[in-house]
Amino acid sequence: MIMKTHTQKEIKDFLELLNLKYYNLSKKYETYYWDSYMGDPSVDDMLRDSLIKRDSFTASKKHLDKVREMILSANKTNKARLGYWEHFFETNQIPQDVLTIRKEISDLENKIAADKNNRKEGYIHPHTKKFIKAPMNQMYMIRATNSDEKIRKAVHMTIESYADDFVKELVELVALRNTFAKELGYEDFYAYKLHVEERMTKEELFSLFDDIYDQTKFAFKDVRKMEKNMPGLTKPWNYGYMLSGDFTHEEDQYYPLDEILERWGMSFTRCGIDYAGGELKLDLLERNGKYNNGFCHWPKIIRYVEGKRIPGEARFTCNATYGQVGSGDIAGNTLFHEGGHAAHLLNSCMEDVCLNHEYPPTSTAWAETQSMFLDTMFSSIEWRTKYAKNKDGKPYPLDLFKRKLEKLHMLSPLGMMGISSVMYFEKELYEMKKITEKKVRDLAKDIHKRFSAQEGTSLRSLNTPHIYSFQSACSYQGYGLAELALSQWRKYFYDTYGQIVDNPQVGKEMKQVWKIANSKTFPEMITIATGKKLSAQAYLESALATKEKSISIANKRIETLSKNRSRKNVINLKANISMWHGKKKVCDNKKSFEDMTQKYAKWLETQKIK
Ligand SMILES: [Zn+2]
Repeated sequence: MIMKTHTQKEIKDFLELLNLKYYNLSKKYETYYWDSYMGDPSVDDMLRDSLIKRDSFTASKKHLDKVREMILSANKTNKARLGYWEHFFETNQIPQDVLTIRKEISDLENKIAADKNNRKEGYIHPHTKKFIKAPMNQMYMIRATNSDEKIRKAVHMTIESYADDFVKELVELVALRNTFAKELGYEDFYAYKLHVEERMTKEELFSLFDDIYDQTKFAFKDVRKMEKNMPGLTKPWNYGYMLSGDFTHEEDQYYPLDEILERWGMSFTRCGIDYAGGELKLDLLERNGKYNNGFCHWPKIIRYVEGKRIPGEARFTCNATYGQVGSGDIAGNTLFHEGGHAAHLLNSCMEDVCLNHEYPPTSTAWAETQSMFLDTMFSSIEWRTKYAKNKDGKPYPLDLFKRKLEKLHMLSPLGMMGISSVMYFEKELYEMKKITEKKVRDLAKDIHKRFSAQEGTSLRSLNTPHIYSFQSACSYQGYGLAELALSQWRKYFYDTYGQIVDNPQVGKEMKQVWKIANSKTFPEMITIATGKKLSAQAYLESALATKEKSISIANKRIETLSKNRSRKNVINLKANISMWHGKKKVCDNKKSFEDMTQKYAKWLETQKIK
């Protein structure tokens, strides 16, 4: 075959075309996505249509071939850029003959989703014997907070019974997904997802998590010892309820929702984190018809036109209900977590849009490292003692921190078990020889035994929504890896500067790695950010710290923060920010950030539940 040669001008024009095409396709899709998820179903057909158009671009064989042909005549700069696009198209390729399997998988997933949506969710009230309608999320909440053990138990038994609803379909799904992955040259579906998302092998991943399991499982015995003082603790319908106690109520006063925007703005400003000239749209309150989970997305990805950087736009949301216990904490966590995702990709200085978006080959683990690093800052004791104040100006008391630690410290080593249980369940599910429904149920029960302190058998792994969707199946390791990475990054910052909250060096260094967006793999990024290869060491160090050590670390960090006060008192996030409630614009920061927060607080009063 004769390969055509290309001039550098032709290559640049082609790159410009790819960038413009993908930018526009993505913008269209994401804009409908926001409207639909904020509660406007009239755009749903357009949303579906724009997704098909976007996906047919990302899976284009024609573009991949052209990129490969052009690489042969490219100079160094253009070669690197074409390399990013080659990787992008490669990752998203689905050969014609595999497309039919992919379609079968989608059809089955849609059927499961529809059946689940039509499931009449709720429980039989133990006292009235009447059916109480309640979606899954609400039932989890009742199990964790209702003071009546009989109700908690009834709800638990219902949740448990739902776990068995789609075992038959899951068996089919696993077989199909494995065939799909094998056709693409992978050992199984887990190996395929792990490679596409994190460029890692199962051996690399699970050697890290095997080690964590071995070093932390001793704490299951401690929980059983705890049961002596808390009879019934390990019953699944008591566990969360008895442990979380009244802390949520007691903490609530320190997170007034109407002040949380300002605390976020001030804290990011002092940390040197900003949005590089971009635009932010925020919609924080719960509403009928609105999607029931927080997220961040980018209708305008960072791009370059004729060498000039064009700032992007991110939007993020959560479901806080003003006046409900815990709402300020939910909103605060969202501003730090989703606001961290937004800052990450809005700070990119890479010319090619395929590096500046959230989809494969972008690493889930690396993305979550940014957001979880920042929400960990929000939940840190030194942040709380400085920023979390009640209406009388009294800061979060150290005594509350100590009482909580006293009660819950024993569980600290088990912090990864929930994430690990999903990872191991899916790994072993896709490795299963001659899969049957019985084997799947047995595996779920075995996982429960290995990863939970609760007594009895349970199929709860099968209630994990992620396992039923192509995009989120076999992706849970992203959270686990992010947990390790952020611990390593925190350790690096504490070792180097002694301080994270209000430390401008933190923002400076984060922005440095955000500049290169997703041009490197997750393991490479960790080495660049922390100077060390990814390991579980920092995570284990903090998970296994003794009570005394945790208190002395907290004291030290509070003291360092109070010694190094930031002189910055004007919030500047370098962004045009607007606050929304569905289609209604509440206010913006055109005048100033403070003006926006005041207007928002005033409007919030009209939304307060009685
Ligand atoms: Zn996230």
